[in-house]
Amino acid sequence: MKEQLDQMLDQGRSALLAAATVAALQEVRVRFLGKKGELTALMKGMKDLSAEQRPVLGALANRVKEDLEALFDERLEQVREMELEQRLASERLDVTLPGRRLVAGTKHPVTLVIEELIEIFSALGFGVAEGPEVEKDFYNFEALNMPKDHPARDMQDTFYINDDVVLRTHTSPVQIRTMLKQAPPVRVIAPGTVYRRDSDLTHTPMFHQVEGFLVDKGITFGDLKGVLTAFLTQVFGKNVKVRFRPSFFPFTEPSAEVDIQCVMCRGGGCRVCKSSGWLEILGSGMIDPEVFKAVDYDSSIYSGFAFGMGIERIAMLKYGVNDLRLFFENDLRFLRQF
Ligand SMILES: [Zn+2]
Repeated sequence: MKEQLDQMLDQGRSALLAAATVAALQEVRVRFLGKKGELTALMKGMKDLSAEQRPVLGALANRVKEDLEALFDERLEQVREMELEQRLASERLDVTLPGRRLVAGTKHPVTLVIEELIEIFSALGFGVAEGPEVEKDFYNFEALNMPKDHPARDMQDTFYINDDVVLRTHTSPVQIRTMLKQAPPVRVIAPGTVYRRDSDLTHTPMFHQVEGFLVDKGITFGDLKGVLTAFLTQVFGKNVKVRFRPSFFPFTEPSAEVDIQCVMCRGGGCRVCKSSGWLEILGSGMIDPEVFKAVDYDSSIYSGFAFGMGIERIAMLKYGVNDLRLFFENDLRFLRQF
């Protein structure tokens, strides 16, 4: 039996030394030291031994057990370390490989134009105001001299939420909101999103406008012409020709549409300007006294002008874009050009 124990110790040792993974080590341990292992099986033979032999062999069996346990612990640590090293080696990163280039985004042309307009008008002393896109009928129509039965309401195809609430059809309600909050003098532009039930080559149901207005004592149509001409020469170059044409808006009197000489053909006539040589660029006028009444401004003391323009229209002319829909398709090949 002593020989058997010595043999088991040898076998156990070599098995532990040969095992190269944690799983293999555990297997060896179970085989020799487990409840149904070889040592347990051998110990069952103890009962046949004489009273003198029993304690001697018992002590020997214990030593075999302790030796194998100690070796197991030692090997376990070694093997774990080895496995960790292997894993680190297999997962190693090659830091010298070239990185993936991040494509930087660019600003949307509509955003670029809005930013440019804000910059130009800031230099002229205008602040920036914003208002809600879901707007009360009062701010969108009523206070702008368009009562419920006013025919001018038909000029704008409106999205109604209910009888009293609309998606704003222009940025002009910001004018009313600002004037109700603030006494003159005011000098504000209001860029933003507007909505109309309109969809074809040159119209989209959602687009952007900038509204601007100035109210103070002694403001005349000459101030309107001066400010808008200064603005248009900043955007389209100092040689741009500007003309003012009489027009009609319910909230201004007198009203004028402002044209610039066609930037595509320099006035010679082309498809973009429909051979007229001119491009309609914005609407403007002196603020109607009826509007002042709605916001409690005294029109015998104060006067002012207002103007509004489509941002996409400006972006199209400025960047030579011929299809309005390109602005909303979000094709990266288009957007990356700006
Ligand atoms: Zn033209």
